[in-house]
Amino acid sequence: MTDLIDRIAQFRASIPPQVRVIAVTKTVSIEAMRAAYAAGIRDFGENRVQEAEVKRAALADLTDVTWHLIGHLQSNKAKSAIELFDWIQSVDSLKLAQRLDRLAQEQNRHPQICLQVKLLSDPNKAGFSVEELWQALPQLAALPNLQIRGLMVIPPLDLEPSETLKVFQHAKELAEKIQIQSHLQLDQLSMGMSDDYGLALQAGATMIRPGRILFGARR
Ligand SMILES: *Cc1c(COP(=O)(O)O)cnc(C)c1O
Repeated sequence: MTDLIDRIAQFRASIPPQVRVIAVTKTVSIEAMRAAYAAGIRDFGENRVQEAEVKRAALADLTDVTWHLIGHLQSNKAKSAIELFDWIQSVDSLKLAQRLDRLAQEQNRHPQICLQVKLLSDPNKAGFSVEELWQALPQLAALPNLQIRGLMVIPPLDLEPSETLKVFQHAKELAEKIQIQSHLQLDQLSMGMSDDYGLALQAGATMIRPGRILFGARR
């Protein structure tokens, strides 16, 4: 575990300090998550509500950790998601946002939200198309219980680096345009995983989501 702590601490030290490193811990053991914590990580990203529920309980003593949902959220899990996560980064439809807003009100919570946007069509990925996002903005901005903070982007996996960079740059421009033309303060850009975080940083990511580069290959 000391190797793991060193590796993660070195990675963290290689990233600009103002950038939030969300350690993606799907399938990662509790022990490895404690190592990440020891290396200074304070943000965990999970893609499944049930897995996060078990892990939050097992790590309840780590009270200064922020939990991020980064995977597609089914509407029947929305209530648990509001209870478990501080950030929901994978809000991919107006309907889901409206549901989360209602549930947040019932639970007196104010989750931080990223809108997942699909800048190139990708049959494997959820997300607002750019057109859908512009259409939904007035209604999204009117949801009182959600703190909508930014965009989350997952480029298609098979792109050339130059194309991936373009996707990230497009996301940055889109967030800036939305800030100017709507009442949403989208100052967060969650983009970049183990293979492309350098490109994401180049394009202005404020949060990166590395998994394998921290913990090794997933089983
Ligand atoms: C799995 C996952 C990651 C981390 O991917 P790695 O390739 O392991 O860095 C980041 N973001 C999302 C949305 C994921 O599902």
